[in-house]
Amino acid sequence: MMTRNADETKKIAVDLASTLHGGEVVLLVGDLGAGKTTFVQGLAAALGSTSRVKSPTFAVMNEYTATFGAIRRIVHADLYRFSSADDVRALALDDEHRPDTVIVIEWPNAIAYDFRADHTVIIDHAGGDSREVTIQ
Ligand code: ADP
Ligand code: MG
Repeated sequence: MMTRNADETKKIAVDLASTLHGGEVVLLVGDLGAGKTTFVQGLAAALGSTSRVKSPTFAVMNEYTATFGAIRRIVHADLYRFSSADDVRALALDDEHRPDTVIVIEWPNAIAYDFRADHTVIIDHAGGDSREVTIQ
């Protein structure tokens, strides 16, 4: 889907959020500034989070409370600075999997690691503020 601004990308995230039940993993693939964190903002808001979603590039992992169906928690990781599968294993993301949790991961493609994923969101720059958003 083509979006022309950040709000349109968030709207796609809202639509995806409405299909979630808890226990899912969502991967976000795209260059710096593509709109991965913007997408997570739309997703988190739709899941009832009132937290300010920022790129957890320095924190690596942030957690937000949620209230949507059985979903009570969003775990948001950004692996931009990771360089190896060992870094991913050390983060122990698998330990965060719970039926009440949605895990979203920015930059999963930076590392050769086989992430379990229910949805992969690919965001590509398409000139100016346009983005091509693909959900697999
Ligand atoms: P990433 O996390 O992929 O590095 P961010 O979501 O942090 O990217 O930043 C994307 C930037 O691009 C934001 O400033 C956002 O407002 C802007 N932007 C402009 N057009 C769009 C669009 N169509 N979709 C998403 N973000 C957009
Ligand atoms: Mg980001």
